Amino acid sequence: MKMPENRITTGRFAPSPTGRMHLGNVYSAVLSWLSARKSSGRWVLRIEDLDPQRSKIEYSRLIEDDLRWLGLDWDEGGLADLGPSGPYSQSRRADIYNEWYVRLETLGLTYRCRCRRSDILASQAPHQSDGRVVYAGTCRPSAAPPFPRPTSDAGSLRLYVPDRDVVYTDRVFGEQCVNLARDCGDFILRRTDGVWAYQLAVVVDDACMGVTEVVRGADLLLSAAQQIYLYGLFGLTPPEHAHLPLLCNSSGQRLSKRDGAMAMDALRSTLSPEEVLGRVAFLAGVIPHDEAISLVELLHEFSWDKIVDKTKSTPA
Ligand code: GLU
Repeated sequence: MKMPENRITTGRFAPSPTGRMHLGNVYSAVLSWLSARKSSGRWVLRIEDLDPQRSKIEYSRLIEDDLRWLGLDWDEGGLADLGPSGPYSQSRRADIYNEWYVRLETLGLTYRCRCRRSDILASQAPHQSDGRVVYAGTCRPSAAPPFPRPTSDAGSLRLYVPDRDVVYTDRVFGEQCVNLARDCGDFILRRTDGVWAYQLAVVVDDACMGVTEVVRGADLLLSAAQQIYLYGLFGLTPPEHAHLPLLCNSSGQRLSKRDGAMAMDALRSTLSPEEVLGRVAFLAGVIPHDEAISLVELLHEFSWDKIVDKTKSTPA
């Protein structure tokens, strides 16, 4: 596998084309773009269409159209597969994920799991009320790793995690200390239906595409620890992470693709690109008022310190 050698700042936006972008996605895209461009870095657009049931090419096209409308340009990736590290759509990278999976199998850290989601939910500890699913290790071989190579094709493939803390510093949320055994358990690398899991795909792709900084929503904060663990197993340096506090709608709920008023089609029918940029910059704490601003002015205003200051009191 050819790996990019430079360590020039490389940011990325990795949307899942399962719906039209909303203000929350725009927020991640804008801050990731600003951070990369502020250090004269590159910006990659990767289409995370791993899930064949939920991903649609029309949404990928709309995502590109919305990014262009905002003026966010990318140097690599997108549907045109610009650049040397393609393909840039995850649905076309299955062979690459398989190659990297084999390395984990060779380390003896993977095993076949036949649990159904309903079994896993039924075995949850009562305090697990935040929606997180911690796998109890039901199918894990009883002897310590290295495990024998998983044989049959039925079931999903899981990765063993040790009872040890993963410690890293997030640019926004500060020092994080996550015990993967306690906080997520052995996690899935390939689903029962053969689809490669997000955690493996994202690490392989960020590594292959030379990504040095990951800027995304705080819903993926725990995932960063799983991903940093994978980087370690592959012997690679993880990128820097900056997780952004999640935007909420007027009733205090996290924005989702179901919030029509926050979707790009609604926003584009009433606001100019500069007004949308101004809104996310204001919500991020980059500018003091919710007012129109150009990308050039925003580049001038942007600094991570402003975002850290604004969110210091926000719990992870
Ligand atoms: N594809 C994920 C999403 O749209 C983002 C993954 C990432 O940025 O690591 O939520």
